[in-house]
Amino acid sequence: MYLKRLELYGFKSFADRTRLEFAPGITAIVGPNGSGKSNLVDAVRWVLGEQSARQLRGSKMEDVIFAGTATRKGVGLAEVVLVLDNEDGALPIDYSEVTVARRVDRAGGSDYLLNGQRVRLRDVQELLYDTAIGREAYSVVGQGKIDEILSARDEDRRGLLEEAAGIVRFKMRKKEALRR
Ligand code: ATP
Ligand code: MG
Repeated sequence: MYLKRLELYGFKSFADRTRLEFAPGITAIVGPNGSGKSNLVDAVRWVLGEQSARQLRGSKMEDVIFAGTATRKGVGLAEVVLVLDNEDGALPIDYSEVTVARRVDRAGGSDYLLNGQRVRLRDVQELLYDTAIGREAYSVVGQGKIDEILSARDEDRRGLLEEAAGIVRFKMRKKEALRR
């Protein structure tokens, strides 16, 4: 499984529809300061369910919507689409390509889509447990994250190990079962 494509529309500095194709292996994104490199990483985190505006370097969720520049008006809607190649079946879903999308508008409307179907955030999260992808998983390592892991509380660090060991899915199911 690998990240195959990322599409942005109205997300942060990406006012125009922007499409990035990734090949298997390593991709480096380079560019001058302020050109949007970190915004791309924010987009990946956001579409996977990041709920904290601060984690996305903003102060409120609306800050992810293109706010406009001196020469260009802002937009009313932000959308990110992330496409994962699932030819190897790493994701427990019967699709060779999995699309996760998230939309938000200024009126507070918010949607997640999985392969084009509206779903709950939980459905996205459940699909990604134990895959190392996801908001809290370790596939996105931001600046300062290494320090955070080293100084984390034991329980939080254990969470990362559990994700790597592939048991989060079962833990969540157990928790769910006990609640009923
Ligand atoms: P550096 O090399 O300094 O880390 P970078 O390439 O990572 O830079 P980003 O942090 O991704 O740059 O981009 C910052 C730019 O994105 C700033 O110019 C900021 O104004 C712009 N930006 C962020 N949010 C929005 C928004 N909602 N609307 C318009 N522009 C935005
Ligand atoms: Mg940056």
